[in-house]
Amino acid sequence: MDSAAQRENMTAEPVLSVVVPAYNEGSNVQVFFEALAPVLAATGVSWEVVFVNDGSSDDTQTCLQEIRDREPRVAIVELSRNFGKDCALSAGLAHARGQAVVTMDADLQHPPETVPQLLAQWQAGHEVVFAVRDVRAGQGAGYRFSARAFYFLFRKLSSIPMSVEGGDFALLDRRVVDILNLMPERHRFLKGLYAWVGFRRTSVTYHQGVRTRGASKWGTLRLVRFALDGLAAFTTLPLRVWSLVGALVSGFSFLYIVLRLIRVLLHGIDVPGYESMIVAVLFLGGIQLLSLGILGEYVGRVFEEVKGRPLYVVRKLHGSEAATSPQDKADPP
Ligand code: UDP
Ligand code: MG
Repeated sequence: MDSAAQRENMTAEPVLSVVVPAYNEGSNVQVFFEALAPVLAATGVSWEVVFVNDGSSDDTQTCLQEIRDREPRVAIVELSRNFGKDCALSAGLAHARGQAVVTMDADLQHPPETVPQLLAQWQAGHEVVFAVRDVRAGQGAGYRFSARAFYFLFRKLSSIPMSVEGGDFALLDRRVVDILNLMPERHRFLKGLYAWVGFRRTSVTYHQGVRTRGASKWGTLRLVRFALDGLAAFTTLPLRVWSLVGALVSGFSFLYIVLRLIRVLLHGIDVPGYESMIVAVLFLGGIQLLSLGILGEYVGRVFEEVKGRPLYVVRKLHGSEAATSPQDKADPP
């Protein structure tokens, strides 16, 4: 390849984009990028890193800006407030330009050393490559049990083969990213969407580090909401199950009515028990409230979707000059 053609090639879009959502990660982003940059350089492909500042209230934006001043292959998508990790990731995916896009956390729990492995699987022809934790580090038995129960339920109810592990740390081919970008849904359960799109998939394992700086943003309540959102986004079975419950209850009631009638005809009218009345009323009332509540969950979600608000609002976009930086010209891909 002559140098003119080489330059031509180099102004093209980068091969690899790394998308990193960051929410109050001021103490992490610098260390994270210092660990990531040499790994990316060693891959030999052109790259960019897209940081999404998810409305951080600490000095994350300043730290990111410092990184970008030194390295023009870094882009920052600055959101107008905190939109949550899945929306931040979506913002990053929409702004990534690479042929392959890796999504990873800024807290160094996803080791940069795994990125070349993901890339190798992609170059071998896989379109979705998950990085899967070898052990769930730092999580109690209760958490592990509920996580497993959730994935079991999810697979049974939605018939989408979502894997237990893997999801947040993954490589996606351009075609997959384009499809995800087309999905307008607001309740973004990205892990489920990754499974929904299909494509040739594989996984590599990694050892999850422990977060040393900053705090995890996942409380128990948030996890429960996450699980409910995930189920509601991928199955309507909870809505339909009430037809079955209703049919069963009516069936049994009808049988009971017949029994009572026969009893009255044979033995005359007796004074009905207070207990059986109150039990029936409370039981049916409970079932009705429960089914209404579940209906409400779905109606609420329909309302959210129907408003069609954007998933995130970008305050400012600091674009990357991925493949045109001096470094790229010095060491061709
Ligand atoms: N994150 C985000 N927006 C949020 C919460 C988290 O962008 O509202 C980012 C966070 O900065 C980190 C990643 O998502 O890069 C994972 O967050 P965290 O470490 O809290 O999750 P965990 O590792 O505990 O699952
Ligand atoms: Mg983390």
